[in-house]
Amino acid sequence: MPARELDAYAAEAPIFDATAFRLPKPDAALIEGVRCFGRRVLAPRAEQHDRDATFPLQNFRDMHAEGLLAICVPREAGGAGASFASYCLAAAELGRYCGATALSWNMHVCSTLWTGALADDLKMSTAERTEHNARRHLHYARIVGEGALYSQPFSEGGAAAAGAAPFGTEAKPVDGGFLVNGKKIFASLSGAADYYGVLCTERMQGDEARRRNTLYLALPAKAKGVNVVGDWDPLGMRATVSRTLLIKDVFVPEEEMLMPRGVYFRAATCWPHMFLTLSPTYMGLAQAAYDFTIAYLRGELPGTPPVKRRMFPTKQIAVAEMRVMLEQTKTLWFQAISEARANPSKEQVLRAYAAQFTVMENANALASKAIRTCGGQAMLKNLALERIYRDSRCGSLMLPWTAEICLDRLGRDSLYEAGEQDD
Ligand SMILES: Cc1cc2nc3c(=O)[nH]c(=O)nc-3n(C[C@H](O)[C@H](O)[C@H](O)COP(=O)(O)OP(=O)(O)OC[C@H]3O[C@@H](n4cnc5c(N)ncnc54)[C@H](O)[C@@H]3O)c2cc1C
Repeated sequence: MPARELDAYAAEAPIFDATAFRLPKPDAALIEGVRCFGRRVLAPRAEQHDRDATFPLQNFRDMHAEGLLAICVPREAGGAGASFASYCLAAAELGRYCGATALSWNMHVCSTLWTGALADDLKMSTAERTEHNARRHLHYARIVGEGALYSQPFSEGGAAAAGAAPFGTEAKPVDGGFLVNGKKIFASLSGAADYYGVLCTERMQGDEARRRNTLYLALPAKAKGVNVVGDWDPLGMRATVSRTLLIKDVFVPEEEMLMPRGVYFRAATCWPHMFLTLSPTYMGLAQAAYDFTIAYLRGELPGTPPVKRRMFPTKQIAVAEMRVMLEQTKTLWFQAISEARANPSKEQVLRAYAAQFTVMENANALASKAIRTCGGQAMLKNLALERIYRDSRCGSLMLPWTAEICLDRLGRDSLYEAGEQDD
């Protein structure tokens, strides 16, 4: 977004008002700080990175200086110790100003949230807990001290990222660590991350590949045998630079395990809301489409002539419909992120699917409606709306909880109890 456009957003309020949504004071302060950072630092840089499909490395350097790379690192390890819900609310504010940065940030933050607050909530033996607590500090120290960037390349182009099959990327146990081989597609932060948080299947020669043997390993980006290949020229989320990773005979020392053996599988089974973390970016984009429409119709969007269009009844009805959709989206999503926990009830899991589906589909529906309502001049590339539209289109495609998979599970699990079958 050009710098001149920023003023239009100066008066914006947080997406979730701290009083109305009963946010604890420290959380509200953290989220407000992130919002101001997004508006001041990310928004002016977003347009160029989107055009050029380049990774916004300076954004991440600045986020390190602000302590944002360590937002979910526990306090005792030097981080901000944000909870799942606080992180989601903060990430929505970043998504409002630069979708691609917020989505890439999510890949990084999950390496700390999943190994931090989420892992603390999981059952582990004393030996597992001791091993995990010792190892995770290695990663936290790199992030807090050096601003190291972690990414999360899980997707392989097969059924594994949807949770329907073991990962094809495999780790063979060897002396002192693992030998890893495989391929990951859509690896956001490719070429920029210092560590790739890879999911792979631990497998000895002759063993069957099993999902419960999933390992979560930090592959040093500079390790011999790690290569980033292919081009990157997508419709939206262009600044995530999600190219392909080839992993050939890469030795990964044991201490680079992000979770002990078996714990990732336990997390995916007992803490399903962990997959809701892709949605905050799109909650922010939904709000951004609405904000743009209000500023534009009021004739207050810098960079556009001060022409008011708000007096037409058709515009007022369109804005009313957008407002209804935005409020529905916010309310359901807020409820879902608030009830994230270990071993949620079936109702809570179904609500999480419904929230993910709603945010991902409504973000793009709102952006689409914003373009139709504001008109042709509003979709020119010097304004943010067309980028919001393209970025928001990507939300429904994000595995493992794509819009289709959410519908699939909602329908099936609403009609069947566990173990039930038809004759
Ligand atoms: C901008 C962007 C950034 C991304 N960044 C990352 C990243 O950092 N890390 C990462 O791991 N991935 C990332 N992804 C990848 C993303 O999560 C998907 O893996 C990717 O879009 C897969 O697309 P596909 O066409 O190969 O999916 P396919 O596997 O071909 O599936 C196509 C569709 O079929 C449906 N489907 C698939 N499997 C099932 C099933 N078992 N049951 C029912 N329906 C199913 C889904 O709705 C899916 O959308 C990113 C994607 C985008 C667009």
